[in-house]
Amino acid sequence: MKKALITGYRGQDGAYLSRLLLEKGYEVYGADRAGDAGLWRLRELGIEGKVKDLPLDLLEQGSIMDALEKAQPDEIYNFAAQSFVLMSFSQPVLTAEINAVGVARLLEAVRKTAPKARFFQASTAELFGSTGSAQKNETTDFYPKSPYAVSKLYAHWITVNFRQAQGLYACNGILFNHESPLRGEEFVTRKIAAAAARIKKGLQEKVTVGNLDALRDWGYAREYVEGMWRMLQQEKPDDYILATGEVHPVREFVGRAFEAAGLPLDWKGKGLDEKGCDASGAVRVEVSKEFYRPADVKELVGDASKARRVLGWEAKTKFGELAPIMVDAEMKRLEGAKVEL
Ligand code: NDP
Ligand code: GDP
Repeated sequence: MKKALITGYRGQDGAYLSRLLLEKGYEVYGADRAGDAGLWRLRELGIEGKVKDLPLDLLEQGSIMDALEKAQPDEIYNFAAQSFVLMSFSQPVLTAEINAVGVARLLEAVRKTAPKARFFQASTAELFGSTGSAQKNETTDFYPKSPYAVSKLYAHWITVNFRQAQGLYACNGILFNHESPLRGEEFVTRKIAAAAARIKKGLQEKVTVGNLDALRDWGYAREYVEGMWRMLQQEKPDDYILATGEVHPVREFVGRAFEAAGLPLDWKGKGLDEKGCDASGAVRVEVSKEFYRPADVKELVGDASKARRVLGWEAKTKFGELAPIMVDAEMKRLEGAKVEL
């Protein structure tokens, strides 16, 4: 039986990967700092109690060493991160301590305690930042635009460095946005899906968002964890982009989500005065500076042809299906029904 250690396993990707590896017959160790996340994702997935819980904080070398020594893993997936871009502007140092130096701590611990283990780092499309609108591939330059992206840039290269200099089997998955009903509610897709469902049920009047013009490549997290697992099953370690190849503005996601909730919107006004109104004319979406970033990435779209060619992985769920999946899940939660995940 193979053993896997997943850091940040209480987050979106950690929960989905835990389920996937349990289904594949792995012994799964989940390591988290037991902060805000709780166990609700594992509960909704029906795997609460099936993952062996270990305390781990990427700020604390001792806890990393302890977790690795206890688990003796064959595979390690590093999802632990301060993963919210907006927060990284107000907490750049903490973000770097966790997302950048934390990964060096983890890799050092792997080198010392489990040098044969295979290592996956959750790298990000945010690394590309302002490198224009063309599809990004594994050879595109990086130009990070937020403290989050800068921290993840270090993590990306230190992972490459441990592969090249220390001989670790270490891979970066350069992940474009991937969403699901298990996404944190601070991220725009889940925030919108949850608000659309609550507004439809009369529990909320409207939702306030930021930059509606940002363009993103949104896939379904459940499928992305399969791609990550495949990266660690190859003969040689390498870096791969996971993306859908489609790009859409935030505004369009908002429109699809409200449509899925049965409240199609009409857009009026521009910039901070832009509003989304329902058929009765009631304002359901408004814009505030509060949710704008000091610097935002205008457009991100990925070319996942290397993953398709080498890993046989492809994003199946595309943009058009994502908002209905997420809104349906929020409706079910409000009705106390079981959520499809
Ligand atoms: P989440 O934010 O849902 O999960 C991150 C997890 O890491 C949480 O459980 C969090 O706990 C934990 N964590 C935070 N700080 C520490 C720490 N110091 N030590 C140990 N654990 C910690 O992220 P996702 O599941 O969405 O993403 C997984 C990874 O992929 C992240 O690294 C993210 O940056 C990266 N990524 C995600 C993308 C996406 O679209 N989802 C796109 C590209 C990259 P707590 O709740 O207490 O903070
Ligand atoms: P990110 O791509 O990892 O930063 O994921 P987010 O879901 O946080 O943001 C995606 C895009 O949506 C960014 O360009 C944000 O500026 C934009 N956006 C617009 N309104 C909001 C909002 O209310 N919340 C969040 N989180 N992002 C928003």
